[in-house]
Amino acid sequence: MAAGNITLTMIKPDAVRKNNIGPILGKINEAGFRIRAMKYTQLTKAQAEAFYAVHAERPFYADLVAFMTSGPIVAAILEKDNAVQEFRKLIGSTNPKDAAPGTIRQLFAEDVQNNAVHGSDSDENANIEADFHFAKTERF
Ligand code: UDP
Ligand code: MG
Repeated sequence: MAAGNITLTMIKPDAVRKNNIGPILGKINEAGFRIRAMKYTQLTKAQAEAFYAVHAERPFYADLVAFMTSGPIVAAILEKDNAVQEFRKLIGSTNPKDAAPGTIRQLFAEDVQNNAVHGSDSDENANIEADFHFAKTERF
């Protein structure tokens, strides 16, 4: 099956608080992603719980929901060939201690929770997450 060409990102509350929206969008642009949709918003508790429902049984779930609702985020749909894999490469490992040099998480993340950005983990989830954040009329 051909790799999909969209992924969903969120610039997380830690990175927004540190005024890193611009630098992170710069890295995304330099890496050749096109922005198909974008919004600046704050997730409700119900939205964060739903977005991360796959992690509901994990010990970090409640803290993750509290963190993701602690301030505004920037959500965006990004387009590039093989977008999911290419974007995971650009952001680096979940824990910034393990993230490769030059990756967004190595540059901007604080720790395994406050890790600056989200990136979809599969084409299927990219589409689910894009629909979660954006109506058809908000996608270009
Ligand atoms: N997370 C956490 N503690 C952990 C693992 C993950 O707080 O031990 C948070 C972190 O913000 C991460 C998110 O939960 O980005 C989702 O976890 P996942 O394993 O899906 O990592 P990702 O796909 O974001 O790299
Ligand atoms: Mg994940």
